[in-house]
Amino acid sequence: MFKLERKILLTPGPATTSNSVKNAQIVEDICPREKEFGYIMEYISQELTKFVADIENYFSVLFCASGTAAVEAVISSIVENDEFIIVINNGAYGMRIVEICKAYDLKYIEYKSDLFDEIDINEVEKIIKNNKKIKYLAVVHNETSTGFLNDIGSFGALCYKYNIDLIVDAMSSYAAIPISMKEMNISYLVSSSNKNLQGMPGISFVIAKRKLLENLKYKKGRNLYLNLYKQYTYFLKNYQMRFTPPVQVLYALKQAIYETKNETIEKRYERYSKSWETLIKGLNDLNFTIYVKGRKHSKIITAIDEPLDINYSFIGMHDYLYNSGFTIYPGKIELMNTFRIANIGDINFNDINDFLKYLKNYLITLY
Ligand SMILES: *Cc1c(COP(=O)(O)O)cnc(C)c1O
Repeated sequence: MFKLERKILLTPGPATTSNSVKNAQIVEDICPREKEFGYIMEYISQELTKFVADIENYFSVLFCASGTAAVEAVISSIVENDEFIIVINNGAYGMRIVEICKAYDLKYIEYKSDLFDEIDINEVEKIIKNNKKIKYLAVVHNETSTGFLNDIGSFGALCYKYNIDLIVDAMSSYAAIPISMKEMNISYLVSSSNKNLQGMPGISFVIAKRKLLENLKYKKGRNLYLNLYKQYTYFLKNYQMRFTPPVQVLYALKQAIYETKNETIEKRYERYSKSWETLIKGLNDLNFTIYVKGRKHSKIITAIDEPLDINYSFIGMHDYLYNSGFTIYPGKIELMNTFRIANIGDINFNDINDFLKYLKNYLITLY
């Protein structure tokens, strides 16, 4: 195994990976159309499903692209001309789903909700009651711009009542926060390889009810490369991607899945939670302001107010920390000056304590 210098990525994906995941990419050359590679693909697809659902009734369809592509694959494949989709927008990633709807000229209703308040599900219900053509509801689980965790269970119950398919962007919650697609009544769930799975970037996937995937046969879809039905049927038949996959990234994903199973999602979330609590305590000690509080916080990513010091700049802080081995992330909240710290990946609370020391040293340089 190659031993590489450890860098701490406090970014919401790609995250810090283990040495074994990095090394899993060093394999003999292989054509992805070989049977041997098909077994790996089959393993990956099945295990991804098993983290959140049973493989008899649910299936994981993989795409060779970052997470947004898989969200786009779902939206562009399922919503038909005479149907409406309601999109819950309480942050930048909810807004991205709205943008996808716009790009395909879909009939969509945007439900905008305050960034830091619970979504008013009764208001959403009123809209659904008044529009019988709403067939889908899309919502982000962990809104990565703020760290606000939306209550998927309540949306699942609402969708059940009105016979609507629930689409969940679980990009930054899957493989950390326990999810049951059946209990939460999720029809389509989307995530990717490089966040809490702690794999390499390049693969995203849609986990869906098999029955719904089969029914896509009757829909035309609006995209060739990101066609969910075509990708599903081709994969079922051959255990191959329709187009060239990033072979080595898939070997790394297989290893990352293996390590996730070993740790278990529950234990992984405990590890993340401990890192997060360490982070919050340290930030409080340094007088930083944090917006999402209490039980609505995902404990995965935190948006933090930028320091007001005249000598502060995000680039200055970033570069100082980067040169010390820590990568931080800019904010993504409109009209607010925030930066973000994610506590995901192959790190623990000791790494967060180290980070806090360097952060404190940076603040001292400002005076
Ligand atoms: C990371 C993320 C995405 C996808 O981003 P990509 O850069 O396309 O991988 C989508 N939604 C949420 C909530 C995310 O955190």
